[in-house]
Amino acid sequence: RCVAASASSSPAATAAAMEVPATMKAWAYDAYGDASVLKLVEAAAVPAVGEDQVLVRVVAAALNPVDAKRRAGKFQATDSPLPTVPGYDVAGVVVKVGGQVEGLKEGDEVYGMISEKPLEGPKQSGSLAEYTAVEEKLLARKPKGIDFVQAAGLPVAILTASQGLEKAGMAAGKSVLVLGGAGGVGSLAIQLAKQVYGASKVAATASTKKIELLKRLGADVAIDYTKENFDELPDKYDVVFDAVGQGDKAVKVVKEGGSVVVLTGAVTPPGFRFVVTSNGSTLEELNPYLESGKVKPLVDPQGPFPFSKVVEAFSYLETGRATGKVVISPI
Ligand code: NDP
Repeated sequence: RCVAASASSSPAATAAAMEVPATMKAWAYDAYGDASVLKLVEAAAVPAVGEDQVLVRVVAAALNPVDAKRRAGKFQATDSPLPTVPGYDVAGVVVKVGGQVEGLKEGDEVYGMISEKPLEGPKQSGSLAEYTAVEEKLLARKPKGIDFVQAAGLPVAILTASQGLEKAGMAAGKSVLVLGGAGGVGSLAIQLAKQVYGASKVAATASTKKIELLKRLGADVAIDYTKENFDELPDKYDVVFDAVGQGDKAVKVVKEGGSVVVLTGAVTPPGFRFVVTSNGSTLEELNPYLESGKVKPLVDPQGPFPFSKVVEAFSYLETGRATGKVVISPI
């Protein structure tokens, strides 16, 4: 079945790499709770591959706050049944393809967000495992020059940044304030606003030690929230992108007729909330910016965390102090 023997590896080696076992290692929980509910399962079932899906051998996975909120039971009403293997973000290698898959083959290096709608019936078997099954349409080819660790940190964050800016009507010549500029989503919102949309001015907030980082990411104005309240400054913006949960203050600094997109917390009009949707073609459209280096993945320097340290990685993510993405690799 292996048709993907590449020039760089012998057919025997590739065939061996494509062999899929019946069971795999996976992190899973069978009750909602804090990070201590996570258990390493030595022989979980490798997920079946649907007609429109591929099986990905996971090389790296990234954590998102949604994984922690889901694990805590916040989305129980619309969650898939327990036990759950968490993880939305994946980067890895295709090892098996479903019958209707046309654009991917064994051996392809891919990345993506594995569930189309993260809160409505997300996959029971996620990316914190040796294998995960994903619809072809949710995946993109891994950008050249971007390694698996960097790629794993991108999907949820860059799709959220891109869709949020789009829904807020971001366009060339507009100004934007990114609340939470040093986090997974904010670090990409700053870069996309500047590099993809051609923002006239990008401002962003973070604590003192991360102010230089905001400037390196492309912020024209870096606001240290430990020293200044952004809503007490004179500047107003066409778009406010709130990745912190400060919707009440965010609406005070938007220009009349402008937009306030809020990712979490209370929403005050004219602010609006949206939930990211997975989409491989958006990732493909962004690939050139990643390949040219105009947009750079930001991986938290505390990581990548090895697969054995998933509980520690979650605890770190849940401090709310991560710089860019918390990535798990190798898996
Ligand atoms: P992260 O865990 O990556 O964010 C951590 C960052 O937040 C840190 O760098 C921290 O910087 C910064 N931060 C915390 N408090 C403040 C503050 N008061 N002002 C400025 N910065 C602050 O999270 P993500 O970026 O992945 O996600 C952000 C939020 O968006 C989460 O609540 C997440 O659930 C939500 N989200 C929602 C989505 C949707 O579809 N609606 C999709 C993706 C995320 P410092 O240490 O300097 O405080």
